[in-house]
Amino acid sequence: MLRKKTFTGGVHPPEFKSEGEKKKVETCPAPKTAIIPVSQHIGAPAQPVVERGDTVKIGDVVAKAGGFVSAPVHATISGKVKKIEKRPHPLGQNVLSVIIENDQADEWNPDIQFDEQYEKQSTAEMIQRISAAGLAGMGGATFPTHVKVKPPDNKKIDTVILNGAECEPFLTADHRLMLEEPERVLKGLQLIMRILGAQTGLIGIENNKPDAVRVMKAKVNELGLPYKVTSLPVKYPQGAEKQLIKALKNRKVPAGGLPMDVGCVVQNVGTAAAVYDAIAYKKPLIERIVSVAGPAIKEPKNLLVRIGTPFAEVLECCGGPTEEMGKLIMGGPMMGLAQYTLDAPVIKGTSGLIAMKETQSFRPPETVCISCAHCVDVCPMGLVPKALGQFVKHERYNDAKSYHILDCIECGSCSYVCPAHINLVHLVKFGKLKVIEQQKKAG
Ligand code: SF4
Ligand code: SF4
Repeated sequence: MLRKKTFTGGVHPPEFKSEGEKKKVETCPAPKTAIIPVSQHIGAPAQPVVERGDTVKIGDVVAKAGGFVSAPVHATISGKVKKIEKRPHPLGQNVLSVIIENDQADEWNPDIQFDEQYEKQSTAEMIQRISAAGLAGMGGATFPTHVKVKPPDNKKIDTVILNGAECEPFLTADHRLMLEEPERVLKGLQLIMRILGAQTGLIGIENNKPDAVRVMKAKVNELGLPYKVTSLPVKYPQGAEKQLIKALKNRKVPAGGLPMDVGCVVQNVGTAAAVYDAIAYKKPLIERIVSVAGPAIKEPKNLLVRIGTPFAEVLECCGGPTEEMGKLIMGGPMMGLAQYTLDAPVIKGTSGLIAMKETQSFRPPETVCISCAHCVDVCPMGLVPKALGQFVKHERYNDAKSYHILDCIECGSCSYVCPAHINLVHLVKFGKLKVIEQQKKAG
């Protein structure tokens, strides 16, 4: 019997993609002033290497990596460094940022150009180019890519999986990338596989994007590549790494483990395209596709946006928000973060900006748990969110740890189905931080 390519748990939120998926990627005008935070990735913040008054070209490093698990950040416009100061960041606090005033010359660093010899690069040279380009997972996780493609020697990788699931409602940026630039994506996969010495290349796409499945399959055939494009059932969080590995390879990442523990590396399709740019052109990550959508945006679009563009200018490029906007979310509505200011900039992990109406932003008051177990049924990690929530509320962090709270992938499925409107994912996120804090204290 054929195995059903899916994972246990998960939910089916309305997709809301029909408008955005038809919109070709347009270029958002470069910002008048770019705000480049030194922290746009998981790991140590980058360290500024420019000073106020310096002149920069597009692609110049403005802050170098702050360690191995870190990434440099680059100028995304040409102009003058106006200030280096803390500015609002989409993840919450104010973060040190390099502020560049646009000289409108759009002058690029001359080193960024096609390298005819790029396919002859050694593994070390390819990793070096990825690292120098400041790549970080573009699906939103923002883990530095050069670290992900350099697993420890005892972890053999046989499979690279490209995540084209894009399972969050409203988001259509990856869909459009696969339709419009499949070759860039596939060449990126080819390079990642070469770096890792992997033999199998898989591309997982949810079956609500049949055109993307068709285009990717046709391009795989045209280029004569041995990769398999698989159409997956629509289920959230299909795009989560562990769920994708289960669906495509039927391998289970152990509790507390990583994809490399089962011989896999998962990359987002956008990251794969950026890997190609980094290795073939030495192009840093200075722009990305952002889905601008939601019921409170005048004209939903998929936009190619320079990193550092303030949200207000991105929304303006879509006619602006309607008067009904009550909440702007960065990312998808399931895992994304509500924003408190439109002054925050697009960063490397900004997959979407979703404008919700005031009426849709209201969360009904929490009531008492009725032990319905819906949260348990949908948890894709096999956790007991109801119990985890209770442990966190009563500060029983050791119990939460023994119930594997650290395995939570923060997908929000539990909160989504809870009839008592308990913000379980919020409790679990908080509990995870507490458990990690305790672990650090214990050494
Ligand atoms: S406990 Fe974590 S992994 Fe499980 S459904 Fe809730 S947010 Fe998702
Ligand atoms: S879904 Fe909500 S009400 Fe039902 S068991 Fe979980 S926490 Fe309780």
